[in-house]
Amino acid sequence: GKQRLEKEVTLELRNKYIGPSCKLFYRDDPLKILRASGTYMYDEKGHRYLDCINNVCHVGHCNPYVVSAAMQQMAVLNTNSRFLHDNLVLYAERLLTFFPKELCVCFFVNSGSEANDLALRMARTHTGKKDVITLDHAYHGHVSSLIDISPYKFNHPGGEGQADWVHVAPVADVYRGKYTDKDYSLEELSEKYADEVKQLCDKATKKSGGVCLFVAESMQSCGGQIVYPPGYLRQVYKHVRAAGGLCLADEVQVGFGRVGSHMWAFQTQGDDIVPDIVTLGKPMGNGHPISAVITTREVADSFGATGMEYFNTFGGNPVSAAIADAVLDVIENEKLRENATMIGSYLKQEFNSMKQKHGIIGDVRGQGMFLGVDLVKNRKTREPATAEAAYINKRLKEQYVLLSCDGPSRNVLKFKPPLVFSLNDAKELLEKLDNIMTEMEVAECEVNDAAKSTLNGTVNSHHKSQISNGHCSDIQVKV
Ligand code: PMP
Repeated sequence: GKQRLEKEVTLELRNKYIGPSCKLFYRDDPLKILRASGTYMYDEKGHRYLDCINNVCHVGHCNPYVVSAAMQQMAVLNTNSRFLHDNLVLYAERLLTFFPKELCVCFFVNSGSEANDLALRMARTHTGKKDVITLDHAYHGHVSSLIDISPYKFNHPGGEGQADWVHVAPVADVYRGKYTDKDYSLEELSEKYADEVKQLCDKATKKSGGVCLFVAESMQSCGGQIVYPPGYLRQVYKHVRAAGGLCLADEVQVGFGRVGSHMWAFQTQGDDIVPDIVTLGKPMGNGHPISAVITTREVADSFGATGMEYFNTFGGNPVSAAIADAVLDVIENEKLRENATMIGSYLKQEFNSMKQKHGIIGDVRGQGMFLGVDLVKNRKTREPATAEAAYINKRLKEQYVLLSCDGPSRNVLKFKPPLVFSLNDAKELLEKLDNIMTEMEVAECEVNDAAKSTLNGTVNSHHKSQISNGHCSDIQVKV
């Protein structure tokens, strides 16, 4: 935990030697973290930060049980998976017990991107088709094949736009998507959004004979912590399969019990929901790179039948498998899914109470340790409060809490901490967030009061709009 260079020197060397597209968190004043434990990270001055965003160190930073499993195996053997090793097969057997029985074959890789790229190849081989349906705002990885199916990338600066084999369906965001709960019931929304996918299936079928793959996170994180209406995946999977396609559940962010009630987020849409392929990553090795593709015997066999060997130097090596196994032990032994449910419900309830008080909170959504607080300038129009979200994030950092903003307008406070997040951690976050929102309202009221007195009591349209934005605590009830 000692620093080898002064922070300014580290930054200087980073700017000099590391590609400029590799961006830092908090670019204006980047953090230098020297050590971490549980839900806390410590900077070079010894300041303790509460980590509300690390969805990789799932069972706690530097979990001693996981560290010990890594060290023990590292000291004995680490080699590639072309040798027989018990860690690999026993982990595969154990991991598969968490899936519906149809999903019975594993491929081990080293990152979420590798997993999704392999899944795409498998879907192409199995279906003999090329067209992919993806959701708006989605991100599935950094390799070329995945930039193509990630609107979060191809529609943004540096992106090359949409390829003709890619079809983008509107994300089933019931709060600010194409169809919302202002106009429709959840049941209608589910059907409407699924119908959008059906239309794309029809279009792809006309154009090129069918669909290869529907790809979606089971709850969409980059889109701003989006939870699809009940029944959505069931209907979508039916349409996609009718068009000859496979269905991929990207559980890289939301898997391994993050949602609390289930091990995988796709299961929240019903026990009968069985994707053809599931991809896993981030939390799987608690910071050590191990990821996986889980699929059916049929898909795995088609991929094998091409005769092309699949070899991945590091995927599923004895150390990675030992670590991943230890992560499952901790999730089970420390009842972390139960913790995610309990603390997540408490936080959601408290965020909802804060919504009564602070007009800036438009929507609170998610479950377990996957929550989003959608900030608005105006509850009626739901106009995103982007600058306010960035400000809150900055103020939280000044108070040693790490949170992030996401969604297409970057106005959604995104909560996805290690699953060991405690009640005290939750209270610390809530208290600081509440104070910052109050502070903002007081400041806004002061501005309004000053402006009002200058105008001798006449409230101009600018002030009215600020009041209707609901930033002033004394008029919250009207919002
Ligand atoms: N899928 C999703 C949903 C992700 O969030 C990410 C990473 N943010 C990836 C895939 C890619 O994973 P990796 O960075 O490990 O390649």
